[in-house]
Amino acid sequence: MKQVDVEIVEVSPRDGLQNEKALISTADKAELINRALAAGLRRLEVTSFVNPKRVPQMADSEALMAQLTRPDDVGFIGLALNQRGFDRALAAGCNEVNFVVVASETFNQRNQGVPVAETLASWAVIRNQAKAAGLLTSVTIGASFGCPFEGEVPASRVLQIAEAVMQHAPDELAFADTIGCGVPTQVTQLLKEARGLSSDVRLRCHFHNTRGTGIANVVAAVEAGVHAIDASIGGFGGCPFAPAATGNVATEDVVYLLERMGLRTGVDLDAVIAAAHWIAGPLGKSAPSALSRAGGIPA
Ligand code: ZN
Repeated sequence: MKQVDVEIVEVSPRDGLQNEKALISTADKAELINRALAAGLRRLEVTSFVNPKRVPQMADSEALMAQLTRPDDVGFIGLALNQRGFDRALAAGCNEVNFVVVASETFNQRNQGVPVAETLASWAVIRNQAKAAGLLTSVTIGASFGCPFEGEVPASRVLQIAEAVMQHAPDELAFADTIGCGVPTQVTQLLKEARGLSSDVRLRCHFHNTRGTGIANVVAAVEAGVHAIDASIGGFGGCPFAPAATGNVATEDVVYLLERMGLRTGVDLDAVIAAAHWIAGPLGKSAPSALSRAGGIPA
């Protein structure tokens, strides 16, 4: 396996597509995933196992998984919000589960339909089932830097949730700026305190570029020692329940940034840019990323 300094988790098949109006065919999703694999990405959030009535773009999760071939060194991550989602991810053949709890009570109830306490109780059960089935586990704490309904989310609240999650420790703990409102000082502070909760859990961050702070937040997270960063080819993406949330930080922008900083990602920049241009076709719009327009530094 290639040596990397920062792992990039490719979330375009899930977060990148879920809020897009154009319904993408299962074959095109498989093509996107295969292009990501060919570009060197080794962990991919391939889909979410959620109610198709609420997220129509994710209605073909099982069919998509059935079309894919997972190389041995690759993680196919299924996102789950509850027991039913986990059961489906497991049955569909995901080898990693990403479970979500939201830091704000209102947003958790809107997103998962239950109170935070109930989501945390589900996690305790799912964690043991996932471990027994040999799956890697991660928990993402949504709205860690601000909430569309409650506004400011204090770091103390996020840490309280993180502490509860760590009672049933996942392999990786992630903080998500679901609505793209965070700034680097928040990232630095939160990660420092999260590191204090456990020295051995891997940390990951998930940023949206809604207010132009996404890439700055990536730098702060990497400097704070995160193991992994979520990114989406082309910078597409959004959350159906977070009004006006825009794209994830773009994979090509993050790869360019990190590689130029001397941090290895194992990802081929040109192949990612080509994939961004390709998926722009089925989506019917051009990629919002900087690198898909500017390209890398001239040779
Ligand atoms: Zn997101």
